[in-house]
Amino acid sequence: MILTYKTKHNRNFSAELKKAHRIAEFALRTRAQSSKDVACFGLKSLISNQILREYSRNKKLKRVGRVNLIIPNQGITERKEEHKIWIPSLKLQLRYRFPNNFKKINQIEVDEEYAYISVSVEEQKPIIANNYIGVDRNTTGHIAVAANPDTGKVLKLGKEVLHIHNKYKNIRKRLQKKGKFGLLKKIKHRESNRITDINHKVADKIVDYARENNSGIKLEKLDGIRNSKKHIKKFNYSLHSWSFKELQQFIEYKAKLCGIPVAYVEPKYTSQECSRCGNIGTRIEKKFVCQCGHVDHADVNASFNIALRPPIGESMVRLHADRDVCKGSTDIPKEATLRTTGTSNLQTEYAQAERNLLSFR
Ligand SMILES: [Zn+2]
Repeated sequence: MILTYKTKHNRNFSAELKKAHRIAEFALRTRAQSSKDVACFGLKSLISNQILREYSRNKKLKRVGRVNLIIPNQGITERKEEHKIWIPSLKLQLRYRFPNNFKKINQIEVDEEYAYISVSVEEQKPIIANNYIGVDRNTTGHIAVAANPDTGKVLKLGKEVLHIHNKYKNIRKRLQKKGKFGLLKKIKHRESNRITDINHKVADKIVDYARENNSGIKLEKLDGIRNSKKHIKKFNYSLHSWSFKELQQFIEYKAKLCGIPVAYVEPKYTSQECSRCGNIGTRIEKKFVCQCGHVDHADVNASFNIALRPPIGESMVRLHADRDVCKGSTDIPKEATLRTTGTSNLQTEYAQAERNLLSFR
């Protein structure tokens, strides 16, 4: 798996970035192939080669967009024992805070403010799951409820998200009335950062729970579902759909790193069906009642239904990167849950790293 972390470089590369932009325009115009052709622009050939690769050889590109400085693996020196990276071509030293367990650094992209470090991380061989825990996601109450039908045990997670959301909603209202729009933007970021943090913690707990139980994880397939009442509610109620999607992606990549399979089930009637007898019961807010006598917390009932449903199609989930998912939350996310040693130092290390993780694929 490839994880991309971002870290501030605290340097001014505006001159180099300008050169890079000019080279890209030149490459698009002339389809120049060799870094010798663009040596006059004064950028190191290692970097200009990357720009040529993108702009000369890609016939589909018609226009130069943002051009970052891309340093390939061979232009990067790792100093793992010091947690440092040295880029000779830019005379740039970066200190990184993510775990040292990566296989190699693939490339580093540099813009005005940040360096984006892409590393390859080994994935665990997938376990063969005999059973699955079901995870129900919601925007009211707990953001996730996980149930294990084998043991009957239930985990309710992330209740604080709603409190945070309501708190910031009130602050936003006040600021809007006063016309303080600069602050408003800041507050929005602060809220999404906190929710992203919680999504990480909740995903960690779910993956840990699955691992302890030697089971896979089942989730509802919620993408593109707009017509069922439950899901209209889920998406529009009080939280943004990005938070939903983010939690799903965190569960996916953390599970993948640990070799835990993730499967998706049809979301239809997961909250109306009775997890004991399969008939349709009555749901009033968070209470579920069935004719068979089964009375349960509605989300708990739903999570058991999810656990017991057959997976859609191939069941195994392919993880793909979505850089956009983290855009709304700027530089928060985090990394894996490979906490086999479980020392507090290591946990702190991961928690910090996760604040800088930008994407994974
Ligand atoms: Zn029933």
